[in-house]
Amino acid sequence: MTIGILALQGDFREHEEMLQRIGAPTLQVRLPKQLEQIDRLIIPGGESTTIGKLLVLYGLLEPIRERGKAGMPIWGTCAGAILLARHIAEGRPEGQPALALMDITARRNAFGRQLDSFEVNMAIDLLGDEPINTVFIRAPILENPGAGVTTLATLNDGRIVAAQQSHLLATCFHPELTGDERFHRYFLEL
Ligand code: GLN
Repeated sequence: MTIGILALQGDFREHEEMLQRIGAPTLQVRLPKQLEQIDRLIIPGGESTTIGKLLVLYGLLEPIRERGKAGMPIWGTCAGAILLARHIAEGRPEGQPALALMDITARRNAFGRQLDSFEVNMAIDLLGDEPINTVFIRAPILENPGAGVTTLATLNDGRIVAAQQSHLLATCFHPELTGDERFHRYFLEL
């Protein structure tokens, strides 16, 4: 099983290092034909409008969307989660490209300037008893999950920061930055 990591912009190397530590074969994806070699895809954090434009430029937007519709597991972290979301609450320029596969709304930069970045320990049921240290960097939050969407993690105030819709996974934080392998292992088992 090869895990593709979209490598157009953002922190794809950190995802790759994490997967290599776990022993999972990885492939940096920049070309449509590389999609034939992968069984799963991670879309990293970065800048979602930039990644969206590059997806079009590299001819990857439609092929990835088709693979996602056909059931390939895709995990988006932060900017990747924004690209997976079907709706954007605000801040996506008209016509901005996105995969729009998941029945959920992403609200970009939801923590404002002052709290642009922070870390918090969070209990997430699917990862077991031990809380996970989560890193938020100019992160979005997720809203209005559709009927097929399961909320995986919320902040203390109830705001959704991780969700899953069958084979699609979205996290507003960055498990690839903390050295905690549990979320990556969970994705490998989807
Ligand atoms: N704020 C970025 C965006 O809107 C996401 C930040 C991140 O991926 N860490 O795309």
